[in-house]
Amino acid sequence: MTATPTGAAETWFSEQHARSGSSFGLRVNARLHAEQTPFQTIEIYDTTDWGKLMVIDGCTMVSTRDNFLYHEMMSHPALFTHARAKRVVIIGGGDCGTLREVLKHEEVEQAVQVEIDERVTRLAEQYFPELCASNHDPRAQLLFIDGIKYMAEQDPESIDLIIVDSTDPVGPAEGLFNAAFYASCFRALRPSGILVQQSESPLVHLDLIKAMRTSMRMAHFQAVRTLLFPQPLYPTGWWSCTMARKNADLSDFRERGAAQRQFDTRYYSVETHKAALALPPFMREALGE
Ligand code: SAM
Repeated sequence: MTATPTGAAETWFSEQHARSGSSFGLRVNARLHAEQTPFQTIEIYDTTDWGKLMVIDGCTMVSTRDNFLYHEMMSHPALFTHARAKRVVIIGGGDCGTLREVLKHEEVEQAVQVEIDERVTRLAEQYFPELCASNHDPRAQLLFIDGIKYMAEQDPESIDLIIVDSTDPVGPAEGLFNAAFYASCFRALRPSGILVQQSESPLVHLDLIKAMRTSMRMAHFQAVRTLLFPQPLYPTGWWSCTMARKNADLSDFRERGAAQRQFDTRYYSVETHKAALALPPFMREALGE
């Protein structure tokens, strides 16, 4: 509880981010749910200005108001880079927002979401039904198992696009950020396949982004690019995803397809796609580009 200048009591959810010595908060009406699952703690809040909020292990995951930024940028740049991604696998992503964006693409014939914690999806169905709107699409398959194990067991050259929509690299997600996992992804991807993974804040996790890119190259991915986009509810408000391609480059995307897309987006466009690919000088220098 925090006292306001007027003296009225208000309740705030705040996330302290030790790594960057920063904290941000959202004013909340109530905590609607809290539980400990075998994997993590999950909380749901009703906020005054951001709709519902899902928090895992004290870290903001999604809010009703801003999740489109992240979900659109985790899916459409990769899907408009691939010529025709028929089989897509999402690792994590239990709130189902990325799945919904992926299924907006007609060329996708199957989208498998591999989430370790079924409770994340069940709570999303209850509190974020709009994100789960495509869960019953016949092309969707929802599995509740460990994504690391799943990827190690896939047939070689059977997937066009892998989207790693995970929590931070601690706990169950730690093994999603290393060369062994990338080697499984490389093996499972078809020759022109793409891997895209959320890669944290360019301001405070540049070392992680560098390490991910090095591990992706060690796993023999031919091309690697990091894309930047705003994400107000994650530490520093600025976020990234890193894309790696098996046997082709990442210099272009299907601009015409993106311009003529037959579905609505709120952040993604040809212009925002191009903007996301533009790395500022401090990043180019740090990443050796
Ligand atoms: N947009 C979010 C972010 O960057 O903070 C990520 C949202 S999504 C809810 C992340 C999901 O990854 C969680 O539901 C978590 O259970 C799942 N996850 C973590 N490790 C996993 C693993 N090894 N296999 C499958 N899912 C995993």
